Amino acid sequence: AEKKVWNFGAGPAMIPSSVLLRAQAEFTNYNNLGMSIMELSHRSKEFENLLNKTKNDFRTLLKIPENYEILFMQGGGHTQFSAIVYNLLAAKRAKLGDSINDSDFNPPIDYLVTGSWSAKAAQEAKRIYGNVNIVFDVKKSKGAYGSIPPNSEWKLSGPSAAFVYYCDNETVNGVEFPYIPEIDPSVPLVCDMSSNILSRRVDISKFGVIYSGAQKNIGPAGVTLVIVRKDLLTPVESVGQQHHNVPIIPTMLDYKTMADNNSLYNTPPMFSIYMADLVFEWLLELGGVEAIEAMNATKSQAIYDTIDQSKIYRSPVDRLVRSRMNVPFKIEPPELEKEFLSGADKLNMYQLKGHRSVGGIRASIYNAMPLEGVEALIKYMKEFEKKHS
Ligand code: PMP
Repeated sequence: AEKKVWNFGAGPAMIPSSVLLRAQAEFTNYNNLGMSIMELSHRSKEFENLLNKTKNDFRTLLKIPENYEILFMQGGGHTQFSAIVYNLLAAKRAKLGDSINDSDFNPPIDYLVTGSWSAKAAQEAKRIYGNVNIVFDVKKSKGAYGSIPPNSEWKLSGPSAAFVYYCDNETVNGVEFPYIPEIDPSVPLVCDMSSNILSRRVDISKFGVIYSGAQKNIGPAGVTLVIVRKDLLTPVESVGQQHHNVPIIPTMLDYKTMADNNSLYNTPPMFSIYMADLVFEWLLELGGVEAIEAMNATKSQAIYDTIDQSKIYRSPVDRLVRSRMNVPFKIEPPELEKEFLSGADKLNMYQLKGHRSVGGIRASIYNAMPLEGVEALIKYMKEFEKKHS
């Protein structure tokens, strides 16, 4: 038998073992075609069927309304940092129509900065656009991430903004929004759900765009899922120079091009899409997002209780905004962290080291992490504390 391992990695992360076993069984012979999924033409009926089924399963799981497109893109979350800016500026320009000249087009774009990923998205926006409004930056105001300021302190631009951007779950800092930000309803709300998509129910109708890389709750890296409200897709400019202040969207970043081609504009990452659907089927069988949401609450609460009841572990995150997916914690004294990690390694509990930018320990407990793995970690945490008190 293979050795039993608990992978607490932040991403790429655990994939359910039943999914891996099924992929293994079908690896050389997909759908009895005598070929692997990777060898099929991406224009074949078989692959198109798989793509459409993957889309439908995702739509079912998240109850995505019909006025939203689901796109399979490449380039990970980082590529979306730029794609968002191009697409939503174009949508805003189209919406304003003849009411202003191109030369006067310079709407603000609003960023809520709650951790290193939203900070990085805002930084990319500043590289490519001149009117970025940082609604708040928790590190700048508080010295460290770990909280979300009350809505009354937010400096939103209001209806003039082309969009408001935030990251629902900050993977590095363990900060997760316990609510959907309240903004002007005429402004598209854009959300990075890379590390908590499919972990809880979400009212999709509140959003303009949601995107997520695959490598946490969906499957292998390589595909990025984008959910976009159809009215935000703007007709593609086929020729011409960049208008003053209105950037042309690079084709591979253009949501409309992807939508018009059912995400088959170019060769998609077929294996990643195939794996995503196996994960979706696994989740549907488990009872869907509602069922996993309850399990995620139980798992994360158990670790936070252990931390809060301990004298050596400490959470750097405000209780109200603690992530259910990534649980960072510190050990006092910090010299113990090395021993904690090597002891965990010996028990086959892997990848618990905190992100290099913040240090400490981080337990990532995505959908695929069973309660059993969390219980093993808690048992070890308690034994470790006993040994050092
Ligand atoms: N956003 C979040 C919340 C993430 O956790 C990550 C990666 N861990 C990214 C964006 C960047 O994703 P990628 O590595 O796919 O570009």
